[in-house]
Amino acid sequence: MELLQARYLLRNPSGKIIETPNGLFKRVAKHVANAEERDKAGWEHTFYDLMANFHFLPNSPTLMNAGLPNGQLSACFVLPVEDSLDSIFTTLKNMALIHQNGGGTGYNFSKLRPCGDRIASSGGTSPGPIAFIKIYNTATEHVKQGGKRRGANMGVLNVDHPDIEDFIMVKSEGNKLQNFNLSIGTTDDFMRAVNAGTDWNLVNPRTGEVVKTIKARFLWGQIVSQAWKTGDPGLIFLDTINRHSPIPKQGTIQSTNPCGEVPLFEYESCNLGSLNLSKMLKSENGRMRVDWDMLEKTTEASIRFLDNVISANHYLMHQIETQTKNTRKVGLGVMGWAEMLAQLEIPYASEEAIGLGEKVMQSIQSKSYDMSQRLAGERGVFPNWTVSTYHPDRPMRNATCNSIAPTGSISIIANTSYSIEPLYAIAYKRVGILENKTQIEINPIFVAKMEAYGLWTDRLKREVLETGSVQYSKVVPKEIGKLFETSLEIPWKYHLLHQRAFQKFTDNAVSKTINLSGGTPKETVSEIYRTAWEYGLKGITIYRDGSRVDQVLQACRLN
Ligand code: UDP
Repeated sequence: MELLQARYLLRNPSGKIIETPNGLFKRVAKHVANAEERDKAGWEHTFYDLMANFHFLPNSPTLMNAGLPNGQLSACFVLPVEDSLDSIFTTLKNMALIHQNGGGTGYNFSKLRPCGDRIASSGGTSPGPIAFIKIYNTATEHVKQGGKRRGANMGVLNVDHPDIEDFIMVKSEGNKLQNFNLSIGTTDDFMRAVNAGTDWNLVNPRTGEVVKTIKARFLWGQIVSQAWKTGDPGLIFLDTINRHSPIPKQGTIQSTNPCGEVPLFEYESCNLGSLNLSKMLKSENGRMRVDWDMLEKTTEASIRFLDNVISANHYLMHQIETQTKNTRKVGLGVMGWAEMLAQLEIPYASEEAIGLGEKVMQSIQSKSYDMSQRLAGERGVFPNWTVSTYHPDRPMRNATCNSIAPTGSISIIANTSYSIEPLYAIAYKRVGILENKTQIEINPIFVAKMEAYGLWTDRLKREVLETGSVQYSKVVPKEIGKLFETSLEIPWKYHLLHQRAFQKFTDNAVSKTINLSGGTPKETVSEIYRTAWEYGLKGITIYRDGSRVDQVLQACRLN
């Protein structure tokens, strides 16, 4: 509720809050239901219940802006960067407008000529893509999103760009580019060259000339080493992304949005929403079970909600409106996965959890597609459907239906665990989310389970507050403790297996951080990045504990 108050509830011109949380859900439900042709009031009621019960929440811009004049409702955008000052600075301006309205932007900078390359018109030389990324970063810093949050960016540079080595190193120059996630645009050819230990060519995008040849493994070593040091760069696997693109005839996808869950064409946007899995449960004979019926019904209503958002949206520029309405991509994902597992008494690090993850996401995908097909019957297919891979067998309203977003804010509003991530800690201090206020929280599902087992004592509470963990506890039996293993206690293989399980049934991508303990060696990062490609993931991000100073969550150590 504190987060809602700080950033989401409407205020009058003097800054006083003039909305309640239920008022917020009413405002959003009304605006989104207005896109319906029939029974607007009935749909308003359904959408309100979805949100007020925390069964589903749309991405933050929808919660913040729906129903306001010129309300921009999408979280994800990709913008073009062509090799001209006109394009670079047009996109910079568009970035500022999008950030101001709560969206995040991704770009591929690979069309820019490299640093030191000729500029015919002036006789000078180009500063190269990294110089422009730094300008975008500084601009982001100064355009705080709608006065509520800072913008986020994804910067991609392809692995054969001549400036790739500088791009790999750029984040270790102090704490720079903190408004950018950086990813290498990686190809199957490059991954094969790394595996085979062969040479790799760097090519000037302006002339097509090979300007340097290096060992693929040397470049790989640099990537891994910097990712180990700072968390960046991640990888996005462009060939995998394009192999799965539903509209290959429309062109090649070159970038994702900032957190990686939506690969998009240039000028395309996508709106997201997430089901709260920790609520998709029912009690049967004293045990918790997945409520498949509730999951299916919630999925259907949520897809309808998200399709409505495309129609109810205010578009900041006509190119975005055209491109977005041509494909009508939406991204329904999940939050509260770790809390669902804990309530079902299934450890995150188990084959059973992986199997259930696949089953849950398969159900969501299947119902999402059914609903999109039904909406196509009611409202028509998306305009580019005839050139899509769905044509002619499956009419669809939306070119994509599912994305697993990080749910960095909406999972806090719904009071559940992030996305498909394991619990970060049983107890933690949350720093920085509310104007640097520190909050201490103990996971309520953990407390409830301990109470049910008769284990909840002051001693256990002290222990948990001190360590954030129960893995070494003398009071909590091992098999119960295993249900509450935290992110850094989960072996990386299980992090990756969960990402794969959800990716299997997600037509867009899965945003996941493979959290590693501080002592993890570089070789492990290399193995993770390689395995991610072999698993057919669309991207990969790691984070080694303590490797960045601005970490938002910290395991609790109060003494
Ligand atoms: N995003 C952004 N700025 C932020 C957080 C998120 O622009 O500070 C965008 C970004 O495109 C990201 C997407 O919103 O990939 C979804 O992020 P998340 O699920 O964390 O957003 P929430 O809806 O929980 O705020």
